[in-house]
Amino acid sequence: MNNVAILKAENLSKAFGGIKAVQNARIEVPTGSITGLIGPNGAGKTTFFNLLSNFLKPDLGTVQLMGVPIQGKPPHAIAQLGMVRTFQVPRVLSRLSVLENMLLAAQGQIGEKFWNAWFQATKIAEQERQNREKARHILESIGMIHMAGNYAGSLSGGQRKLLEIGRALMSDPKLILLDEPAAGVNPALIEEICGHIQQWNQSGLSFLIIEHNMDVIMSLCDRVWVLAEGRYLADGTPEEVCCNPQVLEAYLGSG
Ligand code: ATP
Repeated sequence: MNNVAILKAENLSKAFGGIKAVQNARIEVPTGSITGLIGPNGAGKTTFFNLLSNFLKPDLGTVQLMGVPIQGKPPHAIAQLGMVRTFQVPRVLSRLSVLENMLLAAQGQIGEKFWNAWFQATKIAEQERQNREKARHILESIGMIHMAGNYAGSLSGGQRKLLEIGRALMSDPKLILLDEPAAGVNPALIEEICGHIQQWNQSGLSFLIIEHNMDVIMSLCDRVWVLAEGRYLADGTPEEVCCNPQVLEAYLGSG
């Protein structure tokens, strides 16, 4: 981890009618870190993710990825710049196979125009071969290669989460935003997912993770940011944040 922020957002705000879901919130994710984002139910974490990844347009605020402003850019353009995300409820395509789900994530990389149609066809075939090889390699690394031909709809909730992370890896990201990777996942698979996250982090990938499971936050994260009622509340090491009286009060008050 170094001190340069791979992702930096300031003054992000979003209201839904009268509900101020996110108000002047900010975050900095150090390059190479595993950073956590926590807060009580309804604190605005998922809305904040949606604003960071431009799945929702902010009312106000700026987001920079590696120093480049990304607000207003569509999610596929943000993915090409190096940031991808997963969802609280995994968005896998149930009627496609696990491998097909992976290959779909690679589409969009074939966008270049070529004058020579034959050359283009050859190039696309080569790209497809490489994508297939990469998909199989990722599935192997997450222990899902034996399921490559299975319908994604036949996977358990935890396996879908893992597939979604695998799919995110298809675009060779620098930063992955994970929305509750442990929610609804059995303890053995949570441990497996955490192990993969640590391995990918050691090979240079940064993460921003929303998670309610504090064991996961404590074991994975270098730094943690806290949102409460849509606002920035605190940040620090997991230990600092967990014994911060304001944070404890926000959690107790929300119950
Ligand atoms: P949880 O931990 O329970 O998933 P969260 O911290 O992710 O919650 P959000 O889902 O971002 O919180 O919700 C923040 C607030 O914004 C809540 O009051 C929620 O009801 C509201 N909200 C979120 N999305 C919408 C929407 N599309 N329309 C209206 N209100 C919304």
